Amino acid sequence: MRYLSTRGGISPLPFTATVLEGLAPDGGLIVPEKIPELSEADLRRLRGLSYQDLAYEVFRLFADDLPESELRLLVDRSYATFTHPDITPVVKKGRVWILELFHGPTLAFKDVALQFLGNLFEYLLLTRGEYMNILGATSGDTGSAAIYGVRGKRNLAIFILHPHGRVSPVQALQMTTVTDPNVFNLALEGTFDDCQAIVKQLFGDLEFKRRYRLGAVNSINWARVMAQIVYYLWAYFRVSEAEGAEEVRFSVPTGNFGDIFAGYLARRMLGGRIERLILATNENDILTRFVNRGDYSVREVIPTLSPSMDIQVASNFERYLYYLFGEDPERVREAMVRFAEEGRLRFSEEEIRRVQRDFLSASVTQKETLETIRDFYQETGYILDPHTAVGVRAALEFLEARPMICLATAHPAKFPEAVSRALGFEPPIPEALKGLSERPRRVVILPADPAAVRRFIEENALQIS
Ligand SMILES: *Cc1c(COP(=O)(O)O)cnc(C)c1O
Repeated sequence: MRYLSTRGGISPLPFTATVLEGLAPDGGLIVPEKIPELSEADLRRLRGLSYQDLAYEVFRLFADDLPESELRLLVDRSYATFTHPDITPVVKKGRVWILELFHGPTLAFKDVALQFLGNLFEYLLLTRGEYMNILGATSGDTGSAAIYGVRGKRNLAIFILHPHGRVSPVQALQMTTVTDPNVFNLALEGTFDDCQAIVKQLFGDLEFKRRYRLGAVNSINWARVMAQIVYYLWAYFRVSEAEGAEEVRFSVPTGNFGDIFAGYLARRMLGGRIERLILATNENDILTRFVNRGDYSVREVIPTLSPSMDIQVASNFERYLYYLFGEDPERVREAMVRFAEEGRLRFSEEEIRRVQRDFLSASVTQKETLETIRDFYQETGYILDPHTAVGVRAALEFLEARPMICLATAHPAKFPEAVSRALGFEPPIPEALKGLSERPRRVVILPADPAAVRRFIEENALQIS
């Protein structure tokens, strides 16, 4: 399999060459040259596999320049850190199925991809005799999942900036109690936007970026999308079998369009057996306006109870545009230039109709999110986290004869305040979070000043001396 840029500016690359790059050098996103379609025989062969075996088979289609024995090891190592034998179990609750993606080390779905990405990076760097310093800013989930993906890995260090005192207590503890020497938590005396601006500035200094081999693990990395395809296929097999149904729907709480884009690819691979994907947004509804009215226009970010979806410009959206525009990189480039200038994109009636064959969409308010947590608990005894609740609420609007599978993207114990507002009590604390506050911490507090962060990286980064 070879890889292209959505903007057409690179010659085709093999998988391993794209992984360490992240973004394509022409500013576009990496996409596979073609999306493999699974035959009836493939489906019969894949249906009964364990999660790890299925992941191996899916990755082999996309990552065909990795030695097979190595790929096998990477998969096994990545999912050994999950606490459930099915890795991502799917359970029937009331009228829907819940696909639990939160059994990894940080209790959110990003572990599924980032555990694999950390191992993959380590392998690629070791075989090339190279090293990398990962730099990122976080307001919560991504940072801790990235830290747990990189901790203890050779040839790899990570610097994660978070706003001091402004991430949730659980999330701050999850990050700062990782004491491996290759993990650096920097708590900046400023806001999340300050952290992001500093990261952007340091990446923009090409000399600095090159000297310290700065890398990113953000959601545009192709290997992350690839890893997320697996659980759609996995859940499709489990649920279609249990319900004797040929077709299903998935509901996906969406922010950066990464998770749901993996669902789009799974839908193409399954030849439409995923009849529709439900794109669920919170009050930051740009993607819902896109699906329902062809209006993709940026507004102010509204802070909500589902903070990991408080996003306006969805960084993976460009990948979908590429397919919507018939894999025409010229049109993607034009659209992205126009979007950068005007902050909006418009689509034709015909295009909107095509989008609506892939997706149905609803935007869910915070009041509805809390109601859903409460009603769902009363009906089923099951506690939803606020992100999952957004997806469940949207799913209930589009329920019909086909089974509905709702992605549960975080464990409710990560968001005790929201759950407590809905239910009047906090969710039980899982093993992974017990005793966190007694553990030793490793965090450095710095002013929100690019020069201070730069100096810290210079003093602590991996480098060839
Ligand atoms: C990141 C995240 C999302 C959104 O996923 P995208 O891939 O950005 O659409 C939803 N829920 C939780 C809990 C998350 O951490």
